[in-house]
Amino acid sequence: MRLIFDAHLDLAWNTASFDRDLTLSLDEVRAAESNMQDGRFRGRGTVTFPEMRKAGIAVCIGTLLARSGPEHQRQTSYLRKELDYATRLGCYAAAHGQYACYRHWEATGEIAMLRTREELQRHWQRWEAASSYADLPIGVILSMEGADPVMAPETLEQWWDLGLRAIEPAHYGRSHYASGTATEGPLTDAGRALVAEMQRLGVCLDVTHLSDESMEEALTLYEGPVWASHHACRSLVPGDRQLTDEQIRRLCARGGVIGAPLDAWMLSPGWVKGQTDPAGTGLKDVVDHIDHVCQLAGDALHAGIGSDLDGGFGTEQTPGDLNSIADLQRLGGLLADRGYAEADIDNIFSGNFLRLLSESLPPA
Ligand SMILES: [Zn+2]
Repeated sequence: MRLIFDAHLDLAWNTASFDRDLTLSLDEVRAAESNMQDGRFRGRGTVTFPEMRKAGIAVCIGTLLARSGPEHQRQTSYLRKELDYATRLGCYAAAHGQYACYRHWEATGEIAMLRTREELQRHWQRWEAASSYADLPIGVILSMEGADPVMAPETLEQWWDLGLRAIEPAHYGRSHYASGTATEGPLTDAGRALVAEMQRLGVCLDVTHLSDESMEEALTLYEGPVWASHHACRSLVPGDRQLTDEQIRRLCARGGVIGAPLDAWMLSPGWVKGQTDPAGTGLKDVVDHIDHVCQLAGDALHAGIGSDLDGGFGTEQTPGDLNSIADLQRLGGLLADRGYAEADIDNIFSGNFLRLLSESLPPA
């Protein structure tokens, strides 16, 4: 089995906001949700820790995810808090609640937090040498999807000290720092200060979810390591959530890596959430996006996987031929069918993100 580096999962959000026990099997989590009516994704999850070990996911980038931007603050209910907070402090507290999940999983051996390149390399070697992954901790590099939990740019160092190593300045909508998906506009003044502080500390820039203008500005201001953790291609699927060819070329020129997401609406044009039958989209569509990045790059050194498979959806919104995150392994055969060499597939599965993070994390 090839090891996988998954550049985007929202693990702690699933426990803190959706009350999921990720230490259980997929069947157990689905059964526990069989009577829950609060989302189409209930009972259709694809990600738990045992399933990730079956998938050969040695390392993932795990997020803290909470929003408190200008639009997010207009709350209609205080009962359901899964993403949006009316107060900055509520958002900050939610992110710390998610952080507590990662610390607990670390203490109980489910995961290993990877804060330095030495920890990453040692962890990777441990997985490479193992004959079974069943008892191994899954490596997690901590990221933030939407920077609102950073109360002010000058407090970023607090999060750095806790192990935060990458930031997506915005998610959907506007954050206090940048314009995200479905909005337009540049970084805010606070966003410019945040990017400068990221640069000073060594927090990497993940451009996923930034509006075109914010991405342009962030890539110009920020000179450190960049990637797009879970991002498909706009020339295959129109819409601002996807990267233009020019953005892909720019990321490649910067040594960036683009992780292919497994969220069906980003993979097939015209896919409508809640309506389109997932059977119409397949893992072959993921390969189309990976291949498009490789064609633009001229090599297989800038494409990866950022599955996002626990990003608020389940099998109702994944490729129809995927039942579990373990099915990511089948991308290998599909890439081989397209003529990708073994070494290229290894790079797409893990080598590219492993190289980038090995160069980007602090030495020790
Ligand atoms: Zn996302």
